[in-house]
Order: sequence, then C-alpha cells, then structure tokens
Amino acid sequence: MDPLKKLEQYFTNFPGIGPRQAKRFAYFMMSRSKSSIDEFIKILQESRSSVSECDTCHRLFVNKNNTEIKTCSICIDKNRDSETLMIVSRDFDLENIEKSGNYKGQYFVLGGIIPILDKEPEKRVRIKQLLNFLKNKNHLTEIIISTSATTDGEHTADTIKAKIRSMGDVFSGIKITVLGRGISTGAELEYIDGDTIKNALKNRSVL
Ligand SMILES: [Zn+2]
Repeated sequence: MDPLKKLEQYFTNFPGIGPRQAKRFAYFMMSRSKSSIDEFIKILQESRSSVSECDTCHRLFVNKNNTEIKTCSICIDKNRDSETLMIVSRDFDLENIEKSGNYKGQYFVLGGIIPILDKEPEKRVRIKQLLNFLKNKNHLTEIIISTSATTDGEHTADTIKAKIRSMGDVFSGIKITVLGRGISTGAELEYIDGDTIKNALKNRSVL
C-alpha cells in the first residue's frame, strides 16, 4: 500500500471519520510544508508524553511532573464525595459532567460502550477493572451509570448493572441508578448542556 493510502486508512481509525473525510485529511496533511508537519509531530509527541491514564478511575489527565504515581486530580481530591461513583463511557463524557459543576463524587471511565450484539463485552470495556476497583470501595452507597441515552448506551448500563450484581452480596447494599431521562432519546452525553445534566442527575432513577 502506498504511504498516502496508509495515511488515509490511519485517519479512518479516528472517531466519526469515514473514508471520504479520511482522504481529505490525508491530502490536507500532504499539502502542508515540512516544517508544519514537523510541528504537528512535535505537538503529538508532547501531548502523548505529558498525558497519563489514572490508575484509579482510568481517565486521561495531564501529568505535569510525569510522576510514577498515576492518580488524577479528581481521585486525589479529599473534598469529593466518596460515597457516590459515576460510571461513564468516555473521558469526554466525564469532562462534560465536570464542566456542568453538578456532580462532586468519584468517577470510573469504562473506555467505550457495549454494542447490543457484542458477545465479549470484557474485551471492549473495562469491566474487570471496574469490578476490581469496586472491591476496594466498601464505603460506596450509590453507583450512577451515566451512559448516553442511545440503544447501545442503555444496553451498556444494563450489562454493567448485571455484572455488578453478579458479584453477589458484596455490592448488594449499593443503589444502582441511571440519569433521569430528561435527556432526549438518542442524545450523546458529551453534547448535553449543564442544565440538562443537572436535571438528569436530580431525576435519576433506580436501574
Ligand atoms: Zn482518577
């Protein structure tokens, strides 16, 4: 495969990018000067080396001092409510909820959603890590599963709930809730505004 085709194919791995857009990106990049490409590579490398995945909640965060201990500012914050855990699909959902300022508990980032016909959800999202994480969280009283109001989002919530409940008595005292469906059907969490998040949190229901 020629390098330009390879580049095109690489861009198709980006979320929401189809073959036509990937082709446009590839031609756009190749029309840039060598110094511009070098700058782009440098920015990518700098971003990658300054970002770590939190050992606790698995969100990506800027690890300014590049320390060995990889714990993000949310997990380290003692002022946050340690009895409530919110499970989100992706980092940008977490960011949107944080931006709304209406939630002060802990988080866990699943790393994706589980499509309805998926036979091996463990390979797609961090289910094993979630269950391990929960084993050390005996002070939790509520888990809010905040996945998007899409068919796959709801399927993800149901699967996660079943996995937690399959752990038996350990977590039987924990209430499992979902965001109130003030969020219109089909809505992706990352695009929802602060007021809607506030209402969805207020009107959350037991799953
Ligand atoms: Zn964290």
